[in-house]
Amino acid sequence: MNFKRSKQRERILEVLKETKAHPTADWVYQRLKPEMPNLSLGTVYRNLNLLADQGKIQRMPIGSNSDRFDGDTSGHYHLVCEECGSVQDLGLPSFTEIDKLALKHTKFKIMRHHLQFYGICENCQNKNKNQSPKKKER
Ligand code: ZN
Ligand code: MN
Repeated sequence: MNFKRSKQRERILEVLKETKAHPTADWVYQRLKPEMPNLSLGTVYRNLNLLADQGKIQRMPIGSNSDRFDGDTSGHYHLVCEECGSVQDLGLPSFTEIDKLALKHTKFKIMRHHLQFYGICENCQNKNKNQSPKKKER
């Protein structure tokens, strides 16, 4: 029983480390269901939160209805598409100076910060480009 549980957690961590999709618990569940028929969405969700609490993955504070998770725990920023909801990494290292700057304005003990950029991804921009001429034709 214990072996099975740790095996599940191990696979959940592997799946998350292998993807750049910043997936939801449901995405990870759908991915693992074929090889683990006894797995439940609740178990996946519990394990993702446990792994996040252990610092092995990141829980992402993105203002959507379901939590997303990142297997990359290095300090980096994200691009969130407001049309398709996709989340990508931005190849810009985290500004640790911001934490020091913020400290000058508060007695709050700052440990970290998160930053997301919201907009429209390249895919959606291209889709929009292809759609607009059609609308004009009507
Ligand atoms: Zn998009
Ligand atoms: Mn990321």
